[in-house]
This record gives sequence, C-alpha cells and structure tokens, in this order.
Amino acid sequence: MNTTKYIWQNNKFIPWDDAKTHVLTHSLHYGSGAFEGIRAYATDKGTAIFRLPEHIKRLFYSISCIDMQLPYTEKEICEITLKLVAMNELKECYIRPLAYYGYGKMGVNPIGAPPEIAIACWAWDSYIAHPSVDLKVSEYVRIPRSVSIADAKLTGNYLNSILGLLKIKGTHYHETLFLDIDGYLAEGSADNIFVIKNNKIYTPRLGSILAGITRQTAIELAKDMGISVEEKNLKLEDIFTADEAFLTGTAIEIMPIRSIDDKLLGSGEAGKITKNIQKNYLDLVRGKHTNPKFQDYLAFV
Ligand code: PMP
Repeated sequence: MNTTKYIWQNNKFIPWDDAKTHVLTHSLHYGSGAFEGIRAYATDKGTAIFRLPEHIKRLFYSISCIDMQLPYTEKEICEITLKLVAMNELKECYIRPLAYYGYGKMGVNPIGAPPEIAIACWAWDSYIAHPSVDLKVSEYVRIPRSVSIADAKLTGNYLNSILGLLKIKGTHYHETLFLDIDGYLAEGSADNIFVIKNNKIYTPRLGSILAGITRQTAIELAKDMGISVEEKNLKLEDIFTADEAFLTGTAIEIMPIRSIDDKLLGSGEAGKITKNIQKNYLDLVRGKHTNPKFQDYLAFV
C-alpha cells in the first residue's frame, strides 16, 4: 500500500502504523461495519474531494441500518476528512472511512460493543489497470433485500462480492457481474452497470443494488448531454445485444465493458457514448466540466 503519515481513528490523528484494533473487534468476526470509498482529485484550484457530503450521508445511512450511533455529525466527518487529506499532503487519493463495532463484547448481537470510526487515505491510481474490462456472470446472485440491506455499504455484505471475485481468480476476467434473485442484472462486485442500445442508456433500478454515487453522476451527465436514461429491470439478453456497456464506481470511475462471458459487445472497442460520459466524468472530478450546476460536487481541501 502507498502509506501516508496519518490516519484518523476515534477522534485522533495518529501515525499510519498505529491505527490498530483488537483481534476481538466485533466487526472482524461478524461483519458489523459500514464503509465508504471516496476519491479526491487534483484540480486547477487545488485538491478537491468528489461528492463528499453524499458519501458521508450514505455512511450514516449504512450505520443506521446496523443500529450504530456515532458521536459525530455528518458535517464533522466531512471536515475531518478534508483535514486528513490536507495533513497527508495528497494531491489525489482514495479515501476510506470505516465505522465498526469494536472490542468489548462477543456474541453476534453488536449492541454493547463500542462503535468506532477510522478514516484513511492513500494514493490509489487505477482499480483495474485496463482500458476496458471482460466480465463473467457470477454463479452467485446479488444479496436480495430479504437477506440483507443491499443498498447499505455494510462490510458483511461484501462477502457476496468476495465469493464472486474468487470464482474468477486466475482467469482473464476482470470483474464479476451479479444477477439479482429474479435473474435481472444487478451490479458488479464494487460497481454499477449501464447498458446502451440505440443511443439510449439503461441501468438497473435501485432496490437490490448499492445506490452508487458514480451511477447517479453518470445519469446526470448523460441527461446533461441530452441522452435519455431509463432505470429498469434488465435481462442478460439486454446486455448481450447492447451496443455499448460500462461500469461505474468511485474506484473504477467510468469503465467500458469489452465482453461478457466472452461475448464481445459491439466491436469490442469502447463505444462513443461511453467514451463521452467517461470524458465528462473525468472533466467533472478534476474541476473542468463547464456546466456550473456540477460545481458543488467538489469539496476543496
Ligand atoms: N456497487 C457496489 C457493490 C460497490 O461496492 C460500489 C462501490 N462503492 C458501487 C456499486 C459503486 O458505488 P459508488 O459509485 O458510490 O462508488
């Protein structure tokens, strides 16, 4: 890892190597935590964190799903995050807030274990170092709403993603695509999916997927470009017959999909609409988008 000077843990900025927790930390055993993945980018006006309040709002929603209360407001966590990035003197970085039930009690019920929170940030360039990705449809289905709270970013939910990724270990696939329990397209292990057909964009409706902040941004950018976006149930055939498709996520940004289960999409090259959205997204996060309505999306460090 690209280590930095400081991590913020339980209200203290401490050296990276000192940010530790006991082995009997509740969430280590039972997945009783919630986290975020956020990025900061270099802009002409200095480093800016992209859609910080939205990420912290989602963190607070996720912790509320596991009955966790933290002694901080969303605004305070935003301010601490900005300060941490500044203290670490990073121009661009990935930011990982993690709230978890800590050490002090065992047993599955987390109530009684202390809620704790840490924020780390580090330089992390590309999540997948490829210009486009090959996907494999997973044998696992995405966690249905009747099993867990799929739209919360809970640590325990990620076992589903981990198992999906382990299935493609050692293959040429870069990412796994989950269907939901009814067989509709859901999402990747850490990203949302979009399909383009006849110049129209489609993406799975919310429900059993994470409400991705990049997904929301891509929808807004597409609409700003005058392209219609429909959120609806999509079948596998919809993607197999698509002209273009792409993934969205804070880590992966806008990633063209080259193939699914070895079937090339279109010509196999990143499509025109995907490339446009990707360019607009990268302009936006780096403060270069011309539409002033997106200005508030950058929180300057
Ligand atoms: N789905 C899952 C399962 C994820 O882990 C992520 C990454 N946070 C996403 C979608 C994309 O969300 P975002 O655009 O907010 O990063």
